[in-house]
Amino acid sequence: MERDEDFTVKSAYRMLAGEELDVGVTSDWEREKWLWTRLWKVPVWPRVKLFFWQLCGEALPTKANIVSRVGGEFPSCTFCSFNCETSIHLFRDCRSAQRVWAGLNLEGEVEECGGGARDWVEARWRELGCVEQGRFMVGCWALWEHRNKVVFEGEVADHVRVIGRVRDVMEEIGGGGEGMRGQGEVELSGMGENGPTRWKAAQAGYVKVNVDAGVKEEDGVGVGAVCRDGAGAVKWGVSRVWKEVWEPHVAEAVAVLEGITEAARRGHTHVVIESDCKQVIDALEKKKKGRSIFYLVLDDIWSLLSSFHSVIWSYTNRVNNSVAHALGHLFPRVVGRNMWSDVLPPIANIAVIADSLLI
Ligand SMILES: [Zn+2]
Repeated sequence: MERDEDFTVKSAYRMLAGEELDVGVTSDWEREKWLWTRLWKVPVWPRVKLFFWQLCGEALPTKANIVSRVGGEFPSCTFCSFNCETSIHLFRDCRSAQRVWAGLNLEGEVEECGGGARDWVEARWRELGCVEQGRFMVGCWALWEHRNKVVFEGEVADHVRVIGRVRDVMEEIGGGGEGMRGQGEVELSGMGENGPTRWKAAQAGYVKVNVDAGVKEEDGVGVGAVCRDGAGAVKWGVSRVWKEVWEPHVAEAVAVLEGITEAARRGHTHVVIESDCKQVIDALEKKKKGRSIFYLVLDDIWSLLSSFHSVIWSYTNRVNNSVAHALGHLFPRVVGRNMWSDVLPPIANIAVIADSLLI
């Protein structure tokens, strides 16, 4: 883990700083940039991309990863129960995975010669066309989704379900279903669930704080907030995990509260608060009142407004909110608060880079 984390943090940092400063640009760095920029541009759902960064950074909570952190018995593969459940086994070497790839017309050379997920992804990337790349990302994601259903919900392992799921998702995204049946390449259009879009930095004189919340029944609520200046550079990031489980719109309001509290503490005077929860932004803009816990949280937010000269409420879609999303969904989930300055954890950093490349 340490090597990978180090690897990703360094490269993320260099991607942000290296280009302008023209320092430390090496072939390694070029190689990283080559992959990240391409991954990010594939028109699939943001949650698929975020999953994919975790896969590339060896940060998925596979059984092998969990055992390496906290110990435990042999981490046998969820599908074949024979091999060790590393990410490279789960996605490349396991017979279940190979059946999925065959069903998706994405068979690759399988040389069971070790290597990490990151190298495998890059190798596959170079040999696939653009529609196939999207299908490949969705394929990995659907395999992981199915694996989680088998582990946590007792679903029966069935690779045919994964193939069906990929087909459905690709059709929803648009165009990919045909590519999957091998009838030529179809350019994907749009960004899936939220339309084509990009994150924009705040106007001159303002900082922008993006916030997001993730509710997980068994794990409570995680919220994330990231503050960036007008050039898109990170000033700080914060994440907090509660044991309580709230309704999604309450959790989203709590994310706003977390972000605006930190902005006030840091003495920002002109702030844009951006959320992908329309209900919260509407309520804040219209100064809605009520008696539920949701409005109690809004009251807390309003009580902080006197700390600022100007606060602008901004609604965005989920595609544009991926850094805050990453901070709200960090793994492992540890109850409490975490704070970063300048450089965020790897998974969030990748999203920052993607945003800055798209500015
Ligand atoms: Zn297996």
